[in-house]
Amino acid sequence: MATINDNYLKLKAGYLFPEIARRVNEFAKSNPDASIIRLGIGDVTEPLPEACRTAMIQAVEDMGDRSLFKGYGPEQGYEWLREAIAKNDFQARGCEIDASEIFISDGSKCDCGNILDIFGNNNTIAVTDPVYPVYVDTNVMAGHTGDANERGEYGGLVYLPINAANDFTAQIPTHKVDLIYLCFPNNPTGAVATKEHLQAWVSYAKAHGSIIFFDAAYEAFITDPSLPHSIYEIEGARDCAIEFRSFSKNAGFTGTRCALTVVPKTLTGKAADGSDIELWKLWNRRQSTKFNGVSYIVQRGAEAVYSPAGKAQIQELVGFYMKNAQIIRDRLSAAGLQVYGGVNAPYVWVQTPDGLSSWDFFDKLLHNCNVVGTPGSGFGAAGEGYFRISAFNSRANVEAAMDRISEKFKA
Ligand SMILES: *Cc1c(COP(=O)(O)O)cnc(C)c1O
Repeated sequence: MATINDNYLKLKAGYLFPEIARRVNEFAKSNPDASIIRLGIGDVTEPLPEACRTAMIQAVEDMGDRSLFKGYGPEQGYEWLREAIAKNDFQARGCEIDASEIFISDGSKCDCGNILDIFGNNNTIAVTDPVYPVYVDTNVMAGHTGDANERGEYGGLVYLPINAANDFTAQIPTHKVDLIYLCFPNNPTGAVATKEHLQAWVSYAKAHGSIIFFDAAYEAFITDPSLPHSIYEIEGARDCAIEFRSFSKNAGFTGTRCALTVVPKTLTGKAADGSDIELWKLWNRRQSTKFNGVSYIVQRGAEAVYSPAGKAQIQELVGFYMKNAQIIRDRLSAAGLQVYGGVNAPYVWVQTPDGLSSWDFFDKLLHNCNVVGTPGSGFGAAGEGYFRISAFNSRANVEAAMDRISEKFKA
C-alpha cells in the first residue's frame, strides 16, 4: 500500500480564505440584494500595463515565425531578462548582484516553498507572527515542524511576534536560528524595515551562520526614499540572504506568472561533513532538474517592465493603488479607527475597535457595511485584534467601502 506524506495531515485545513468565503456566501444567500465589496484577498484588479501586453503580443508573433520560434528556454530564465533585472532592480541601487545570480520562475510563492529543497531538515526556522502563511505551511509539508496547537502555532517553529509596540518589526532573537523569513514591505501588516533594522538582521545572520529569506514582493510600493528596496542594499547581505521578487504586484502579473529569486554566489551552507557548499550551485541544480523555465512570451512581457514606457506605466499603476491605500488610511482614521501600514505597502492593518476579535470585526463589517476584509488572526496568533484591508481594488469600490464604514463608525 502506498503511504502518504503524513506531514500534510498536520496542516490546519486551509482555514482562512475558505472560512471567509463560507461566511460571505452565507451572508449573500440571506441578503441577495446586498452589494458586497471585497477588500480581502491580496490580488490585483487593474489590467496589465500596455507595454507588457505589446511585448507579449510581439512574442506570440515571434513564436509563429520559424526563425524566431523558441522551444525550451534556459531553466534559469533568458539572459536578456536577467540582465534587465540585475541592472534596474539591483545595480541601479548599488547592489552588487550579477545576472547569473538571478533565477526566473513562475512565482514567488513556489520559490518560497521550493527553496527548502536545498536545505537540511534540522534547521531552526523563524517566522514573524503574523506572517504570509506560505512560509509556515511549506515547512510543515517538508516535515520541519511538529503539530499545531489550538492557537495554530506549530511545534518547532520560532515565532517572532510583530505588533504596534515593536513597529511591526520583529525583535532580533537572542538565540540561534538557522533560517529566517522576512517580508518587507510586509504582507499582512504593511510595515516596512529601515536599513538599520535590516542591518541588525544581516549582522545577526552573519554571526550565527543563518540564512535570511527576504521576500521583497512589495518593494515597488515603497514611497519613502530612505527605505531599502532590496536586502542587498545592506552591507554583508550577499553572504547571508536569498531574495524573492515577483512581477505579481507591481506589474499585475498574478495571473500571468513571473517572478525571480536571487541566490548570490557568495552564499554557502554547511554539508554533513562540515564543508561549506555554495547554495547557488544547489539551487541551479534544483531548478535545472525540477523546472523547465517560464514561457518565452511571459518573460518578454516581464522584460517590458524595464522599458521606459513600462517603467512609467508601472509607476502609474503602483501610484493608483497607493492612492487607494491613502484613502483607506485617511477615511478609517477619521472614523476613529487605529490604522497601520498603507504608506509604503498596499495593505492597511487596522486595529479592531472596542477589543473586538478579528473575526467579530469581520462579521460586523460584513453585516453592517457589506465590506469584506481579512481577519488578522488568520495570519497567525499575534494577528488577533487586527484586520487587513487591501488597496487592490477599483477607486469606486474603495470609496464606496469607506463611505459605508465611515457612516457606521462615525466618531
Ligand atoms: C503576492 C505575494 C507574493 C507573490 O507571489 P507570486 O507567486 O509571485 O504571485 C510573494 N510574497 C508575498 C508575501 C505575497 O503577498
